Amino acid sequence: MAKAEGQVYEDDELDAEQEARRRLALAQIRQYPDVALKMTARPVEHFDDDLRSLVDRMKRLMRDARGIGLAATQVGVLQRLFVFHAAEDEVVAVVNPEIVERSDETDVVEEGCLSIQGVLVPVERPVRVTIAGRDENGEDVRFELEDIYARAAQHEADHLDGVLIIDRTTPEARREALALLRPRIVLT
Ligand SMILES: [Zn+2]
Repeated sequence: MAKAEGQVYEDDELDAEQEARRRLALAQIRQYPDVALKMTARPVEHFDDDLRSLVDRMKRLMRDARGIGLAATQVGVLQRLFVFHAAEDEVVAVVNPEIVERSDETDVVEEGCLSIQGVLVPVERPVRVTIAGRDENGEDVRFELEDIYARAAQHEADHLDGVLIIDRTTPEARREALALLRPRIVLT
């Protein structure tokens, strides 16, 4: 089992059907270096059925891909919302999220991303944050989070500004990750 990663839940054993569903979900999630991943999302203005079906779809993709968070930019929608686990059994959407408090205490954890498969890099983040925003019905929500849940929320909030884990890691880890991600040219 992998260490606590920012977004990928756990490397538990999947049966063949779960594995097939995970691959299908990942195929619908934008992969680095897709340009949508570098773009800044716009605030959501309409809390309508379209928004709610987007949230349902993102929750389904996140579950099938075995992630603990998924941002709209990762499915090519440039709107400010993400879904994530606010607790082990609590999956929520946060629309127009703002991180309103951050602890001074930070830690460094190897973090992965559903859009950058096969890469884990150390990322330093505050251990505790408070995040405020709306739910998919336009109601105010506020979450006081710590550890992996705080990390997931910060990771997803970064996505809405086009910021990825490789932008947050050390220069050495970034270099190694980019070398891994570079398309291989095969000469015959
Ligand atoms: Zn990510």
